[in-house]
Amino acid sequence: MPQSTQVVVIGAGPGGYAAAFYAADLGMQVALVDPDVNPGGVCLYRGCIPSKALLHVADVLNEARHAEAWGVTFGAPKIDIEKLRAFKTKVVNQLTGGLGQLSKQRKITYIQGTAGFRDPRTLEITREGQSQPETLTFEHAIIATGSRPSTLPGVTLQSPRLMDSTSALEVPDVPGSLLVVGGGYIGLELGTVYAALGTKVTVVEMTDGLLPGADRDLVNVLARRIESMSEAVLLKTKVVAMKEAKNGIAVTFEGEGLPADAPKERTFDRVLVSVGRRPNSAVPGLDRTRVKVTARGFIEVDPARRTAEPSIYAIGDVVGEPMLAHKASHEGRVAVESIAGERVAFEPLAIPAVVFTDPELAWCGLTETDARKQKREVTVTRFPWAASGRALTLDRTDGMTKLVLDPKTERVLGVGIVGPGAGELIAEGVLAVEMGANATDVRMTIHPHPTLSETIMESAEVFFGQATHVYRPRKKA
Ligand code: FAD
Ligand code: NAD
Repeated sequence: MPQSTQVVVIGAGPGGYAAAFYAADLGMQVALVDPDVNPGGVCLYRGCIPSKALLHVADVLNEARHAEAWGVTFGAPKIDIEKLRAFKTKVVNQLTGGLGQLSKQRKITYIQGTAGFRDPRTLEITREGQSQPETLTFEHAIIATGSRPSTLPGVTLQSPRLMDSTSALEVPDVPGSLLVVGGGYIGLELGTVYAALGTKVTVVEMTDGLLPGADRDLVNVLARRIESMSEAVLLKTKVVAMKEAKNGIAVTFEGEGLPADAPKERTFDRVLVSVGRRPNSAVPGLDRTRVKVTARGFIEVDPARRTAEPSIYAIGDVVGEPMLAHKASHEGRVAVESIAGERVAFEPLAIPAVVFTDPELAWCGLTETDARKQKREVTVTRFPWAASGRALTLDRTDGMTKLVLDPKTERVLGVGIVGPGAGELIAEGVLAVEMGANATDVRMTIHPHPTLSETIMESAEVFFGQATHVYRPRKKA
């Protein structure tokens, strides 16, 4: 380990490794510290990547079942859980191993260990397997320590049947029944995986709808599917107690959303707690610096991602929402450019959000819900996928594409999509919002036929009352 470096990055998730790689590409001397053997962080080891590998398997299972409607019948699937896990692990190892190679090629000093601050210019790093810390002085540090799962308040149960996202991604078995606590991103994605594998899934969500924050018209489409794949979806309901029972975890529910005839206590083979994530801002020795932490536990940063301590930057989940990998990596680039002396700011107009369920749900820019909260006048156009040729060929007409537009300038302020492939389609929406495209730009852009991408163009045509496949004349001014 060197004794000093120009830049040290603490945490090698998508924020940290992107920052370290970019800093090295700009010619800086870089060290990257993380407890894992290779870069990757939560996203690659226990988040985005393993969950998407499992969701792909779920998609195949669901498609195979759906095929019966087209006259193609497969037998009941046989699930080899070891092989399934091996597929997921192979994907993770391939990606993280690749990042390890890329880090070496860039001559980054990768230190497998945990870092804390001795002072605003010195780290104390305890390497894996060692007890005594070593010191590393730096000109600039970037804190990219990410986040960890939140726990259920008041629940102290320790049980192998009680899972967080990390243990659920290990797919220890295919339980007969699973309670998912929290109807957000993780609960719905992992609930989808387990339901496809054959588990009876119940979702409990404390607010009055799934995915709070997303537009209701989009969520409603997804909610119908989630309800059909689940035993029950209990809204406005909370888990108030959990205890180990003979054959599972006995859970007590409370809330106005609980149907009158539903039992208040039920036993599940497994329980997944997915009620949000907390920032890892308790970096040892942070109090020896001027770095400030907000009441919600996020590290405070300015638009360039610099903390109150001029030598220290922070990026990713540890600085705030949305807690998404692509937000972290873009912040990493901004921090590095600021360190390189450029005047930069992280000020995106649109950060895409994608829930990789079936159907996928994606949005970017201004949502209709936020426009209403801000009392901002917008025109919302919707294109139902029942009118899309491509959706019909896929036998998936349950989707919808919507544009949130400024009525005066016709500018695209936000895009929302629900339907298979929404996660890929939303990138066009992000480009439209970032480039200040207006409805005419989107309408006049020739989209390939027959594709689901046409639904974005047709949503713009709806604005002019001209959509080929939807008749909705424009109101006279
Ligand atoms: P992280 O990826 O959390 O990495 C932080 C790293 O810092 C970790 O390796 C940690 O061990 C290390 N660290 C912490 N403290 C120290 C210390 N003191 N010293 C050294 N190292 C330290 N986002 C998406 O955009 N798309 C998805 O599809 C998606 N799916 C997800 C699925 C799941 C199940 C989960 C849990 C999350 C998912 N996310 C997804 C969120 C995404 O994983 C995070 O937003 C992203 O990983 C944040 O990146 P980061 O660089 O801020 O930190
Ligand atoms: P989340 O914030 O998405 O959802 C948590 C849900 O739990 C909310 O709906 C909330 O109302 C509910 N909840 C909270 N306390 C509860 C309680 N006591 N009982 C019942 N419901 C309760 O959080 P998450 O699903 O844990 O995911 C964490 C974060 O990770 C996400 O916000 C997202 O930033 C990231 N993530 C992203 C993706 C993706 O991009 N596809 C996938 C997974 C995770």
